[in-house]
Amino acid sequence: MKTYIADLQKIKNKSNAIKKAAGIIKNGGIVVFPTETVYGIGANAFNKDACARIFKIKGRKSDNPLIVHASDIEMVKKIGVLSKKDQQIMERLWPGPVTIILKAMPVISKVITGGIDTVAVRIPSNKIAINLIKYAGVPIAAPSANPSGFPSATSGDHAEEYFNGKVNAILKNGRTKYGIESTVIDLSTMEILRPGSFNIKKLERIIGSKSRSPKKNSATKSPGMKYRHYAPKTAVFMFDGDSKKLQNICDGLNNFAVIGPNTFCNKMQIQCKKIILTRHGADDAKRNLFDALIKLDKLHVAFGIIVVSKDMSDDPALINRIEKATSNIKILDKESLLNVLGNS
Ligand code: AMP
Ligand code: MG
Repeated sequence: MKTYIADLQKIKNKSNAIKKAAGIIKNGGIVVFPTETVYGIGANAFNKDACARIFKIKGRKSDNPLIVHASDIEMVKKIGVLSKKDQQIMERLWPGPVTIILKAMPVISKVITGGIDTVAVRIPSNKIAINLIKYAGVPIAAPSANPSGFPSATSGDHAEEYFNGKVNAILKNGRTKYGIESTVIDLSTMEILRPGSFNIKKLERIIGSKSRSPKKNSATKSPGMKYRHYAPKTAVFMFDGDSKKLQNICDGLNNFAVIGPNTFCNKMQIQCKKIILTRHGADDAKRNLFDALIKLDKLHVAFGIIVVSKDMSDDPALINRIEKATSNIKILDKESLLNVLGNS
């Protein structure tokens, strides 16, 4: 398939390119576009067949529902049922990187909801995303732009590498602001179904009540969370000690990469590749994480080690993504490393 690719950082008439992509959405096509969280792969949410193509292109399991993106509250009302109170909360949270679960309107196909009767909705703050939805005149169902299981695209280049030739259009606009996906919340129970770009403490302050984790047996409440996710092809593990300890553990091995804070990477004196994950703490690490994992696969090393500093481990959304990418495998000592290498 010939993909129309527009790099909005390089062209003068951005609206024309966005309007062209909006026309493609309206006519049942698939468009990859930037949001403030990660890039999305989108289709007209009122077109069941177009939405089904997203699952096919991504290799996404049919029970893993899509988030529907709207440009304003009037559009949200066409997607889900909301109370006055829901609306008041939405007006304080949106536009922004938080996704709210609502009872789905009948017009929303079960293809989008993965067969359940609720729908995930969000009004993004990214101007290109908002204009794309406005010009299309329909809500856009869009999961993260990545082949299922792999790190989400957080730059136009990632989007192009993943989807050139597979979708109708790609709007590129450099790197995204936050770097990980939205926070997903069920307002009726205050359950955080997925930690994400919107800070949970800030969310609680705005809503005025405490959030909670979903009950252990409610895996079906956030169907996407049960799948392996965000993982590169290269084996990757977590480590949370100092550089001396990691050097001792990795002594004698040289075909590996360390993904960590610049201060940590600078101290590594044994031979290894280094990918700087952050220079400025956890928010910077979130912004760079998926890019670092995508880079790891290009280094052709035997394995990667993500160094988790204290401020990173205090960030639930960041830790969630790292735990998934590493299948929660922590390197404690040489023996545990050799063990997992034997198994990977
Ligand atoms: P993605 O767009 O790829 O970031 O994934 C969408 C996320 O939203 C997944 O974790 C889904 O499980 C979650 N999600 C979408 N719709 C619903 C819903 N109706 N109820 C609960 N979680 C949902
Ligand atoms: Mg995803």
